[in-house]
Amino acid sequence: MKIELDLVPFSEWMTIKTKPLVIAGPCSAETEEQVMTTCRAIAATGRVSMLRAGIWKPRTRPGEFEGIGNIGLEWLQHAKAETGLPVTVEVATAAHVDQALKMGVDVLWIGARSTANPFTVQELADSLKGVDIPVMVKNPVNPDLQLWIGGLERLNKAGIKKLAAIHRGFSSYEKTSFRNEPMWELPVSLKTHCPELPIINDPSHITGNRELIPFVDQKALDLDMQGLMIETHIDPQSAWTDAKQQVSPSRLVEIIEGLVVSETNSYNADFSTKLAELRKEIDQIDDSMLQKLSQRMRVVEQIGRYKRDNKVTVLQVSRWDEIIRKRTEYGRILQLESGFVETFLELIHNESIRQQTDILNEEVKNV
Ligand code: PEP
Ligand code: MN
Repeated sequence: MKIELDLVPFSEWMTIKTKPLVIAGPCSAETEEQVMTTCRAIAATGRVSMLRAGIWKPRTRPGEFEGIGNIGLEWLQHAKAETGLPVTVEVATAAHVDQALKMGVDVLWIGARSTANPFTVQELADSLKGVDIPVMVKNPVNPDLQLWIGGLERLNKAGIKKLAAIHRGFSSYEKTSFRNEPMWELPVSLKTHCPELPIINDPSHITGNRELIPFVDQKALDLDMQGLMIETHIDPQSAWTDAKQQVSPSRLVEIIEGLVVSETNSYNADFSTKLAELRKEIDQIDDSMLQKLSQRMRVVEQIGRYKRDNKVTVLQVSRWDEIIRKRTEYGRILQLESGFVETFLELIHNESIRQQTDILNEEVKNV
């Protein structure tokens, strides 16, 4: 499947101050003071090319902070004037588009919930007919590549040629260490179908947790994504939205400095070599194994608490025998050597016992 998008090259509408391209700013504009101090500190790092802030926030439940609204655009206008950096905001209705254009917003983005709804994207595309402004389209909340492509196509058909995609991960029922599963194969597939379309990674909404951000950033750069959008707040812990995933401006610099930016275009050169391709595959498998292990340990903790509350010993030999027997048999079917499977399981089992013993000791300490 080839996607035909008529695009203006990224370099013609995005000025990259320093590599990698970073777009940073708070999840939400909250107060003038918060916007100005955050944006000033971000600009002072010299590592950020564009400012972001949410003005209208799509909240799951009503009654939560739903964005400051139009006044926030005035604050962003001040931040832009003072820092000289362009600004980007999320638009979800034609009225948002009107307001954003009136207030000199440089780049618009379409949020994940909006991309999931073709009516919404079409309304936005219609409101942008005849307007020359870059638009970034986040992936839809559900892992549907066609819907993502459809959103980009709707805008392109309305005459928007300055387009980028934002990879912010996908909602999944299964709870893992990510807030939104990265499902890297989807943006990679988008890139394969449309190599000239820039893809920006949003590690903040993928991780939902600031500790994991550097790993996702690095992975995105290794997959040759064109930039990063990182939620940054002057005082992340007291942010009104997404407090767990925002970083301070000083942490942002550390994160950026810790990244390895390869000069070669890995996607087109290295990526096409078999070895690099296979290594990427291994990296993905290792990542998912670690996620699964982490998931397993969380269940182990629950079992530990349950055993403690019911006064059951940590180790039940019969259960362990059963695990070894069933898993080595399953391993054999999967063509894994039984000695290897046993050693592997033993390692996991030892760690599980250690964790459960800790839980038991915690209680002993508490009584
Ligand atoms: C955001 O960028 O703050 C946001 C709401 O993102 P998403 O649409 O990816 O949830
Ligand atoms: Mn957010």
